[in-house]
Amino acid sequence: MKVLIATSHTQGLRADDYHFAVAGELVYFPIFDCETPGCGCIRGFAGFASAKASTTAMVVDRPDLSQADFEVAVVDALSRQGWLTEGWSEEHEDLVETVIAEIEFVTSSYETNSLIEREGNGIRCRGIIHPEEHLGWAA
Ligand SMILES: [Zn+2]
Repeated sequence: MKVLIATSHTQGLRADDYHFAVAGELVYFPIFDCETPGCGCIRGFAGFASAKASTTAMVVDRPDLSQADFEVAVVDALSRQGWLTEGWSEEHEDLVETVIAEIEFVTSSYETNSLIEREGNGIRCRGIIHPEEHLGWAA
């Protein structure tokens, strides 16, 4: 399935880029953006594992990742990051579905290997990278 991962590729293309997430980790759209003028959170993608953000993400195809396993990963990330507390509820289910739907919307709108950035709900593609270049991710 197609998912979003953090990448350091094209970091610095914008002067206000940042990359604190772990390159290669799954990312999602933060639950909310604050309203502080100049705050970079409206440009960040949140890491499932690190809970840290990056302004650059990539659409990748992970054929080994099933929808069910992906949902488990979403629930795990949201739970560890404090978004799902006090047991399971309909509200929690809605939140999980929203996070998954946002990722699916973007990954179905951009082709695999697209490098993307965001500003609030606006998504832009910075370009498409060759798969071989992925190998340099973590460097
Ligand atoms: Zn903010």
